[in-house]
Amino acid sequence: SIYYSSVGYTYSYLHSSASSERRHPTTKLFIDGKFVESKTSEWVDIHNPATNEVIGRVPKATQAEMLAAVDSCSRAYHSWSETSILTRQQIFLRYQQLIKENIKELAKLITLEQGKTLADGEGDVFRGLQVVEHACGITSLMLGETLPSITKDMDTHTYRLPLGVCAGITPFNFPAMIPLWMFPMGMVCGNTYLLKPSERVPGCAMLLAKMLQDAGAPDGTLNIIHGQHEAVNFICDHPAIKAISFVGSNQAGEYIYERGSKNGKRVQSNMGAKNHGVVMPDANKENTLNQLVGAAFGAAGQRCMALSTAILVGEARSWLPELLERAKALRVNAGDQPGADVGPLITPQAKARVESLIQSGVDEGATLLLDGRNVQVKGYENGNFVGPTILSKVTPQMKCYTEEIFGPVLLVLEADSLDEAVGIVNKNPYGNGTAIFTTNGATARKYTHEVEVGQVGVNVPIPVPLPMFSFTGSRGSFRGDTNFYGKQGIYFYTQIKTVTSQWKAEDATLKSPAVTMPT
Ligand code: NAD
Repeated sequence: SIYYSSVGYTYSYLHSSASSERRHPTTKLFIDGKFVESKTSEWVDIHNPATNEVIGRVPKATQAEMLAAVDSCSRAYHSWSETSILTRQQIFLRYQQLIKENIKELAKLITLEQGKTLADGEGDVFRGLQVVEHACGITSLMLGETLPSITKDMDTHTYRLPLGVCAGITPFNFPAMIPLWMFPMGMVCGNTYLLKPSERVPGCAMLLAKMLQDAGAPDGTLNIIHGQHEAVNFICDHPAIKAISFVGSNQAGEYIYERGSKNGKRVQSNMGAKNHGVVMPDANKENTLNQLVGAAFGAAGQRCMALSTAILVGEARSWLPELLERAKALRVNAGDQPGADVGPLITPQAKARVESLIQSGVDEGATLLLDGRNVQVKGYENGNFVGPTILSKVTPQMKCYTEEIFGPVLLVLEADSLDEAVGIVNKNPYGNGTAIFTTNGATARKYTHEVEVGQVGVNVPIPVPLPMFSFTGSRGSFRGDTNFYGKQGIYFYTQIKTVTSQWKAEDATLKSPAVTMPT
């Protein structure tokens, strides 16, 4: 790319270069159209998960800086919301082009901060890009409704209008896709946006902000603050913020949903998961095993739609040895190394947690068919690597089953029938995603109909909907009532104004006051 040929930790918009008093380059804030250095005294280290080297630091923004950011959003709102919808559309048309031209640069930054493989990093950007492309259809998406002649000479029409300042809080696992679920949808509707990226992977959001500025977004329409709990509380409490989009863990998501809602804000909160793949004995074996292994171990299992639990039904139980062979063949390596399939986990704490959940499975009686603990990655001995791991004979009471593992661990349960498998899935509190593998249409229909999960794949292991639909996780995986992107995303970021007008001809003028309720 000619545009960002030198993305790295000295890239001037992202990070100021290392100075003598600070050992590591620091991530900037994006306030009122400027990339500014924080005046805070509190910093969080950013690590390369493949080496655990500190590669930069991110500030916990001060109250004054957070106030400046939200004030900038508030000031920009009036003119942005009044900007013609065609102008907003043009900015996002330019934006999608800039993202497309720079996918590789963005992916490099994702691999550096997050650890996933370069190819997977490109996928992360691509799925976000699709949301931006969809947002470019705003001229159709935001249309209101009309109904003429609701009574004599009277017509009603509705407008969809923006809310004001909206805010987004994002997780570490999709540094591009999830921010891109948020601010482009919010902004194209005419809102201004305050983003707080994950403090573990802030670089990608900064680069995305720079590209948006270059695409023509006016100063103040997007502001970025960094931090942890204080920044989150600030967003939940500040009265100018009308809506919060959150994606991350249940612990944070339930809290933000409650605190934001109590303060009268709209909140949509996408949270954790335990996704089951039900394998019927009539499935296409080769396809199913490959899909299962890819969806369980891709991104080192750090996807909210990872297929982390397999239920082998009936004769499909006998497929276990072949599943094992495929999992063993995956190559664990740093994300920027050629041929890497499974990269590192985000932190040493995440690695320790995943390893202890594997051990808990063993202690509670599961069979450890493949143990990815103590995997050695040459040249990356300090990275947070866990290799593909398979626990079989798992039961729903075990801790490894009741908790979201968020690592490269596939749990295998068994069932005698489809009904038994549906019962297991529906008893699990999460409702993010699930898949059934079968060649029987009636079996697929019964499963999709009876399973209480918001996103269902039929021979599709990771059924993340494209942006003309919405991301519809349910039950314990979601709080709120309108989902991310698609029509639901437009509904979340807009409110409706309904106008009823009467234009009477001269001779139809009322002769006296009408005191009864109009019917
Ligand atoms: P996380 O909840 O730790 O962090 C998400 C954001 O919340 C970050 O910006 C962080 O600064 C903030 N945060 C963290 N702890 C907080 C707390 N106690 N109070 C207030 N704010 C807090 O999540 P993560 O580890 O970055 O991401 C992984 C989780 O996200 C997994 O549970 C995964 O399933 C979930 N996820 C869900 C979806 C979805 O669409 N359902 C998508 C991606 C990730």
